[in-house]
Amino acid sequence: MSTPLVKLEDINFYYNRGKPSEAHALKDVSLEIERGGYAAFFGPSGCGKTTLIYLIGGIETENTESGHVLINGRDLRGLSKKELAVYRQIGVGIIFQQFNLLPSLTVLDNVALPMAFLGINVERRRKEAMKLLARFGMTKYAERFPSDLSGGQQQRVSIARALSNNPPLIIADEPLGNLDSENANKALEFLKELNEKDGRTIIMVTHESWSLRDAKTIFYLKDGEVIKKEEREKKQAAQKTLSEHLYHNLFPDITPERLMARSLSYMLMRGFSGEEIKRFEMFLTKRLAGEINTPTFIDFLDSPFKDGGAGLWKQRARKIALTIEELIENRKRIEDVYRELEKDPETPLYEEVVKMRAWLLEDYKGILSDVQIARFDEAVEDRFRNIISPENFRQVLELSRADFGVGLALGTVRAASERLETILTGKNYQVFH
Ligand code: ADP
Ligand code: MG
Repeated sequence: MSTPLVKLEDINFYYNRGKPSEAHALKDVSLEIERGGYAAFFGPSGCGKTTLIYLIGGIETENTESGHVLINGRDLRGLSKKELAVYRQIGVGIIFQQFNLLPSLTVLDNVALPMAFLGINVERRRKEAMKLLARFGMTKYAERFPSDLSGGQQQRVSIARALSNNPPLIIADEPLGNLDSENANKALEFLKELNEKDGRTIIMVTHESWSLRDAKTIFYLKDGEVIKKEEREKKQAAQKTLSEHLYHNLFPDITPERLMARSLSYMLMRGFSGEEIKRFEMFLTKRLAGEINTPTFIDFLDSPFKDGGAGLWKQRARKIALTIEELIENRKRIEDVYRELEKDPETPLYEEVVKMRAWLLEDYKGILSDVQIARFDEAVEDRFRNIISPENFRQVLELSRADFGVGLALGTVRAASERLETILTGKNYQVFH
């Protein structure tokens, strides 16, 4: 069994403990939510739904009487302030019942704001925010203020904002509460899409039963207790998305071999001219498609450019050919892994991840601590399962150890990420993004 993304253990939570107004808001609550799941908390007003998501979202961490909130196996109460801040910034996106948009900021700046905390520069922030607005059909409102928008529109902005740092977990508190039925339906469609297409884990809070239609797991709450859990269909692998979308959906007009060849050519031929890269790419495409074997490939690579070769030194040609063989081999293994995952999403990936680590960090000369290794492996596994984006992957690798990351230098992060993305999607993130 893999670690659930969210796990609550025997939570007891009080408001106004010891005062006449004391409310025992959560009573012995234990539950688990799998990666890629779509869970709903369902129950009448006052049953503890919002309190529950404040705990899961890392907003309320101080006043829990007993119990633990584990995200990805990590106890939120064991995190430093900084670590908690990082979790809130990139680990979870919350769509609040009242939308919580900042009235003094434009729609665009509201969506871009969470990226500011990550230190992303303003141009890039706005560009990313525009993409998100476009996704929700809100481009033309970018420069307006929240008060100019209808409830449904504010809702969409709020969803866009929740997505702005690419969090694997999306929480929506009564997202339909303030919407008419058409907009409520749209919001549900968005959540479903985020779950099925983007592979996000969704938690939706609601008191209206009709809005449970897409949830796969439903937790029924009453007076602060989980009184029933209902599993709908067996979760159908949000994991599927990656393999389904593999290659062709990314770039429909390009064959897998050409896509990978292009990506690799840029990676391996840094510093060469456009003409040289093109020539190299042509041979590489043939090699990847199995049209030529390795010795022939090397011959082409080290033949002079004027004779139609790639004009590389023999040593270099061999080294590159070797790297390519490794890639092809790793790529095959990944395909096997995805076939397994499609049959059984719970397939452990541990061994695969360990093998992959050795290869991803091949050129890294330092020594990693156990904690660094654990975090690295976790990030690779999350990337395998498409739970985190390529960008998140690099963030985790790059963030300092104190900040919950692996603490690798930029060059190492880039090399590892390039290798991983090339075999996962055939697309080298650096080149195409
Ligand atoms: P729901 O979201 O299901 O309506 P809440 O989590 O908001 O439920 O509330 C659960 C219980 O805790 C209710 O009895 C509510 O009155 C109480 N409660 C919620 N927030 C506070 C607060 N800030 N101070 C005191 N009591 C609170
Ligand atoms: Mg509530």
